Amino acid sequence: MANIVCKGLTKHYDGGPPVLHPLDLQIDDGEFVVLLGPSGCGKSTMLRMIAGLEGISGGNLSIGNAVVNDVPARERNVAMVFQNYALYPHMSVYDNIAFGLRRLKTPRQEIDRRVREVASMLNLDALLDRKPRAMSGGQQQRAAIARAMIKTPDVFLFDEPLSNLDAKLRAQLRTDIKRLHQRLQTTTVYVTHDQLEAMTLADRVILMRGGRIEQAGTPSELYHYPRTLFAAGFIGTPAMNFLPGVIERLADAVSVRVSAEAWTLAGSRFSTLRAGQSVKVAVRPNYVRISDGTGSADTLKMRGSVELVEMLGADALVTVVCSGERVAALVPSNSLPHVEANVTLEFHSRDLHVFDAQTEENLSLARGDETVRVGVERTISAVGTH
Ligand code: ADP
Ligand code: MG
Repeated sequence: MANIVCKGLTKHYDGGPPVLHPLDLQIDDGEFVVLLGPSGCGKSTMLRMIAGLEGISGGNLSIGNAVVNDVPARERNVAMVFQNYALYPHMSVYDNIAFGLRRLKTPRQEIDRRVREVASMLNLDALLDRKPRAMSGGQQQRAAIARAMIKTPDVFLFDEPLSNLDAKLRAQLRTDIKRLHQRLQTTTVYVTHDQLEAMTLADRVILMRGGRIEQAGTPSELYHYPRTLFAAGFIGTPAMNFLPGVIERLADAVSVRVSAEAWTLAGSRFSTLRAGQSVKVAVRPNYVRISDGTGSADTLKMRGSVELVEMLGADALVTVVCSGERVAALVPSNSLPHVEANVTLEFHSRDLHVFDAQTEENLSLARGDETVRVGVERTISAVGTH
């Protein structure tokens, strides 16, 4: 096993524009890190550089404390699983898994023992004689993972391995990959554009945007303490509510005017907001309630008319139009308002984020003991920002 360290790592393809800007990142031995971000932000490029499949334009990349900038892929002892299963179609699952060890001239008995061992970990025991075309997408991808695992790599790399599977198989294989990592503790870098996949799998999520690290942290940190509007919008479903507002101050009292409402922002994390500042205020739909009139003094309220009710099962997503702005509330589905009903929405001021409308930075990050409130393991820190 091995750690991975990137120092000022950059990439451009053949004199083209930079695809990765100087990027610093440290991945600990045994850590499960997910590179998350929209299509084209440089995730696969980064992964392929770690694998040795793509050259490095600048900076340094170390695996296991040795600089590998010029070490070819086959000498890096990393294994990679791609979106397309990439199995040899004419070979059985057994032969596909055994392929890497046969090339290394490993004794036949040793190969047999290891093939059966990894096949059992991935629930492939009964499928060893099958050809890939006679298996489901999920089974093929498990075979591809087994084939990568058998060489006991120092580092496991996954590039969107679940993208071609239907929702149910995706959830199942996600659990398998997590369990496998808990058992083997192999350093893993996993690429996805799916925030739910990232949140469920990762020890640490590296959120990327346009070839830069937007924010790095535990899933809980990214969810509770998004540093930017982009991070806030990218993480979490249903998506966060954003409303334009203007800050008002009367001596030490801070408030924000949002359409017809003026909300008092109590607490030290709002104390640096300036009068007249244009902001976006944000709250997640799961923290918004349809008021029953028992709200405390810290509750912020807005009135509006129900536009849409989307039943999700235990919960429903209720969209309310408040003075022209749409606000979504995720509420228990056992008592739902009717469309066009007039309702009051409320949420606690501690669940509100305030972003600068220009810089898009979060101006209201909780610090100190407020960090402890939601059980975040580390304080707010990013490995790299721009
Ligand atoms: P992601 O995996 O996040 O979707 P990629 O790493 O594949 O993003 O791509 C990042 C950027 O690099 C994109 O703008 C893409 O068009 C460009 N790119 C990727 N591969 C190549 C290549 N072989 N040649 C030129 N440009 C490339
Ligand atoms: Mg990609």
